[in-house]
Amino acid sequence: MRRGDPYRGWPLSHTDGVDDTYRDYREALRRRVCAVCLDSKDDGACGLASPADCAVEQHLPRIVEAVLDVRARRDDAYAAAIEARVCSHCSERDGLGLCQLRRDGRCALAVYLPLIVEAIEEVEARRDSGQA
Ligand code: SF4
Ligand code: SF4
Repeated sequence: MRRGDPYRGWPLSHTDGVDDTYRDYREALRRRVCAVCLDSKDDGACGLASPADCAVEQHLPRIVEAVLDVRARRDDAYAAAIEARVCSHCSERDGLGLCQLRRDGRCALAVYLPLIVEAIEEVEARRDSGQA
């Protein structure tokens, strides 16, 4: 049993009585991962004798936290890279290297950076898969 570890035992396929905090992640994983998992059945349900033994199910909260943590650090890294490689060449910065447009939320690059990154990553993913 998984007593003593509050992070364990949050199945993808059994949500009755389970905290809803991870429902959206669980459903997204079912669509994207279980749908292609070799252990899933034709109807999309988990084919394991004990679905709760799947590592994705067992560790869902930890997985979500780990991914969100890396993503946050990745976003910070992108912002730092843009500031160093783009803003440093932009005429909007003042003599101290500060940018009023960024502070006012009026630079599209700063405001939409996560979407810009996603768009560029989408192109890269297409190229990597030979679709571009
Ligand atoms: S083994 Fe895990 S990933 Fe595969 S179908 Fe079952 S719950 Fe989904
Ligand atoms: S206007 Fe945008 S690109 Fe230019 S320095 Fe400010 S944040 Fe950077």
